Amino acid sequence: MLNDTIAAISTPLGEGGIAVIRVSGDEAVPLVERVFRSKTKLSDAVTHTVHYGFIVEPASAEKVEEVLVTLMKAPRSFTMEDVVEVSCHGGIVSVKKVLDLLLQQGIRLAEPGEFTKRAFLNGRIDLTQAEAVIDLIRAKSDRAFKVALKQVEGNLSKQIKHLRYVLVELMAHVEVNIDYPEHDVEEMTNAFIKGKCDTVMVEIDRLLVTAEQGKILREGIETAIVGRPNVGKSSLLNELAQENRAIVTDIPGTTRDVIEEFVNVGGIPLKLLDTAGIRETTDIVEQIGVERSKTALAEADLILLVLNSNEELQLDEIALMKQLADKQTIVILNKIDLSRRLDVEQVLSYFPKERIVELSLIENKGIDDLEKAIAAIFFEGKLESSDLTYVSNVRHISLLKQAKRSLQDALDANEQYVPIDMIQIDIRAAWEQLGEIIGDSVGESLIDQIFTQFCLGK
Ligand code: GDP
Ligand code: ZN
Repeated sequence: MLNDTIAAISTPLGEGGIAVIRVSGDEAVPLVERVFRSKTKLSDAVTHTVHYGFIVEPASAEKVEEVLVTLMKAPRSFTMEDVVEVSCHGGIVSVKKVLDLLLQQGIRLAEPGEFTKRAFLNGRIDLTQAEAVIDLIRAKSDRAFKVALKQVEGNLSKQIKHLRYVLVELMAHVEVNIDYPEHDVEEMTNAFIKGKCDTVMVEIDRLLVTAEQGKILREGIETAIVGRPNVGKSSLLNELAQENRAIVTDIPGTTRDVIEEFVNVGGIPLKLLDTAGIRETTDIVEQIGVERSKTALAEADLILLVLNSNEELQLDEIALMKQLADKQTIVILNKIDLSRRLDVEQVLSYFPKERIVELSLIENKGIDDLEKAIAAIFFEGKLESSDLTYVSNVRHISLLKQAKRSLQDALDANEQYVPIDMIQIDIRAAWEQLGEIIGDSVGESLIDQIFTQFCLGK
């Protein structure tokens, strides 16, 4: 049953100024009307209007909640069905009471993602857009939010549709020539196939390159803060996290817990780990945590190496710098409010100038420079911020790779002058795989799987 009427609380549960209950389906208007009293009858109202009134217990006419009701008639609504949104301003108890009353009228409680699923099934949005709605809900940073928003607007699907169009054209062209298999025509066709397949593959590669950044935007850059005890690692973590999770002390080795913080640095999400701050011992060599840090270092996408500019470089710090040479590293010279004892030239022999940032965490200086250095690493010329089409979804990445493989098969076959109708099969496969990204030809179970990832009410 597609168009039975469903309802759910669409705003986060908990204390809030208002809460919205969304109702969608063929019977949305008459069913809400049973418990809604206002000047204008809802069924007489014009679409896209807001109505002040009360939700009442239908039997006793007792007022339950003062509400604003928004009417959006099909097909000009998110689900393309009749949608009624009830904005309540009371706490969670009254919202639940209103929802209960609605359910008593025969409205069904929506499954997670069911509103978006209907929007998809009714052709309002395609699958990449639907999945982007999930990302929007979960977005952890400004940038991730913008990427997801772009996807909702259909950026990725536009590109996929274009590639599919190129492939359809190619298939049509090849089809014609299959009917006229004279030798010279066939030769021309081979060249044509190569050109088109190459073009599409280049585009797919370009989309795949953005996949890595997309993953980072969703999950955060794994960032390890390393350095000797007392150089200011915990202070840095606190500064970036803007709250005192880690305990900062004057006594080396007092940071005890494994600390993981998800922070947002200039729109780029970092997953911070105060690596060497974990179980700092009294053993000087052990303190730097070289051994312990090794695994964390191997896994980290980004290393923030903290040095104390008030002290000379230590042997273990030099060893660490050598080890970090092939890692994305930013060297932080902390405590520049104190006198300079560290030889910067020595650091410069391991890292370029633009990877070295001077800080005073006590005086709150240099944090901007650190943010810029992190952003520079992240964007390193690969991306233009105006064109944020990140492919961040595992399903999309896998399908793009499959399509690329199919096109490679087509190219290989083409090279070996395999009969053209055989090559056509590979091209068609690529076309279908790209189609799956935007939800053309996807199976029902996949659709369900995608939509149950949604929060209730979306
Ligand atoms: P960790 O052992 O590397 O985690 O270092 P902490 O963050 O615990 O800091 C050790 C000590 O250095 C604390 O007393 C901090 O207040 C101090 N400290 C941190 N940053 C600075 C700074 O920029 N300037 C000065 N003068 N002291 C700092
Ligand atoms: Zn610490």
